[in-house]
Amino acid sequence: MSKVLLITGASAGIGAATAKLAAEAGYDLALNYRSDTQGAETVAESARALGIRAELFQADVADPDQVEAMFKAIDASFGRVDALANNAGIVDQGAPVTEFTHARLKRMFDVNVIGAMLVAKEAVIRMQAQGGGAIVNVSSVASRTGSANEYVDYAASKAAIDTFTKGLADEVAAQGIRVNSLRPGITDTEIHAKGGAPDRAKLLAHKIPMQRPGTSEEIARAILFLLSEDASYITGSTLDVSGGR
Ligand code: NAP
Repeated sequence: MSKVLLITGASAGIGAATAKLAAEAGYDLALNYRSDTQGAETVAESARALGIRAELFQADVADPDQVEAMFKAIDASFGRVDALANNAGIVDQGAPVTEFTHARLKRMFDVNVIGAMLVAKEAVIRMQAQGGGAIVNVSSVASRTGSANEYVDYAASKAAIDTFTKGLADEVAAQGIRVNSLRPGITDTEIHAKGGAPDRAKLLAHKIPMQRPGTSEEIARAILFLLSEDASYITGSTLDVSGGR
């Protein structure tokens, strides 16, 4: 029986690349997205062309009712969750802390922190019942660098993910569930345009020791590694995939 991998934020960028590589590796896919139905359908169709099952589950991870409904739908469709790529995330317009609004901070933490924690909680409940599983929480090198004058709120939300990863990993390690955090560096996806800086990855390349942004596929390969049996003794870790940054 194929393993079932849930990928949140699978309609674009790193999530979409993870879906492609996971389909090639033989996973069946539960693909979550929030608004980009066309992108999600394209990802699902490409995955199905490789002979695996791929189903779409539209939900805003920041909404607890939608997360619960999504997992009920996954239960009905697949009956299990073996692996989770907890990837959905947002940035906002670059700005100093003095310009942050309450609404901005609330949305950032609702999506990047509470959403990721709710999804992990529901996945763990299923993995405990099944006797094991693996989770990769997608963080960011911003949790180390702090992202001054750009998005300190985003950086802090990812630091929360790193700490959540360690605590959850320790809670569930004896139950055969591994939980790791993966910190991409600057990666060439549409997230920068969504934050108002479409050329950000190119413009900041000189700050990266390897002098170039990462690709979604380079991040996805590391996610697949941490989810795989090759990482069977790795839990509670954070892995930087950042060209040395
Ligand atoms: P992206 O291209 O903007 O894709 C983001 C994905 O997340 C989309 O599928 C989007 O779905 C989904 N999403 C956003 N909000 C959601 C919500 N509330 N509920 C469900 N899905 C939601 O971004 P990316 O660059 O691939 O980023 C993926 C992850 O990597 C994020 O956690 C990000 O913080 C992290 N990361 C990225 C970089 C980078 O440089 N790109 C660096 C470090 C860390 P819809 O479009 O359908 O709404």
